[in-house]
Amino acid sequence: MGDACHIDAPTAQRDRRVLYVVLAINFAMFALEIWQGLSADSTALIADSMDFLSDAFSYGITLYVLTRPLRVRATASLIKAVLMLLLAGGAFYQGIHNLVNEQVPHFITMGWVGLLALIANVISAMLLYRTRGRDSNMHSVWLCSRNDAIANIAIIVAALFVYLSHSLWPDLIVALIITWLEGSSALKIIAHAKKELKDAH
Ligand SMILES: [Zn+2]
Repeated sequence: MGDACHIDAPTAQRDRRVLYVVLAINFAMFALEIWQGLSADSTALIADSMDFLSDAFSYGITLYVLTRPLRVRATASLIKAVLMLLLAGGAFYQGIHNLVNEQVPHFITMGWVGLLALIANVISAMLLYRTRGRDSNMHSVWLCSRNDAIANIAIIVAALFVYLSHSLWPDLIVALIITWLEGSSALKIIAHAKKELKDAH
């Protein structure tokens, strides 16, 4: 999640291959979560797609941009953070829509997508551990996976509470927490990138 999901430049060809696989998993999960989140009226799923997009971008930056000049790297980070904030806006819009129309999200979709997201994050973590686990990145991979898994479990629990209570609130509360965490890390990334762009001049 956010800043913790960051990998240093891969050295071996094998490391690059793993990063391509993890990038594909995270991007596919981003697409699935935003699509299913919108069709199931789940604010939490839309909010969680911020994390998959952010992580996919981080792996992409590691693969393609990390060896480029500072200006290019800062711009890539800026694009990532702005896209995250756009998704936060989408989650916010969905939340308002649900409140105004008293729209209860589809809990079955929340449940299976949340579970699939958890599996995707566990697989990504295992793949990254195998290659990056030797060095100092291990701690970062651990933090990133742990936070992401907690968010996924929160969505599964929220789905259960939506089912039990027929209320839109469990989905909204989890979405608020995820959006807060991801949104504040996006703002931090923007501040950092802006400073880097200024220094690059
Ligand atoms: Zn993450």
